Amino acid sequence: MDSVPLTRRQQDRAARIAAELASLGLALPGTLIERRIRCGKPGCRCHADPPLLHGPYWQWTRKIGGKTVTRLVPDDQLDDYRQWLDNHRRLRALAAELEALTLAIADAGQRARRRTPAPARKNRQTST
Ligand SMILES: [Zn+2]
Repeated sequence: MDSVPLTRRQQDRAARIAAELASLGLALPGTLIERRIRCGKPGCRCHADPPLLHGPYWQWTRKIGGKTVTRLVPDDQLDDYRQWLDNHRRLRALAAELEALTLAIADAGQRARRRTPAPARKNRQTST
């Protein structure tokens, strides 16, 4: 497995992150936006004063390649979307935690290497 030695604490953290990732479930990036709209029908309640707008409708939006993509989310899928978005936030947090842990382990490995004398190395030149 890993050639850099891990402390007990680092092993525990890595195992906890892996376990949580494994049980995360579906994950979706983006956000849900609540929309209340005015329709095109003249005399509709949404044109009254004060207006009674239609909705709320829920839109899922996400930036894909610099473009904002939106999709109307049916009411019966709203709970699913909320769960998927929550899971994605958790996924990002876990990924960041795993990266920080790995960097700390890599740094500790480099410090340990600097303390131990390096084996004699021949200067190699590539001949052409
Ligand atoms: Zn209307």
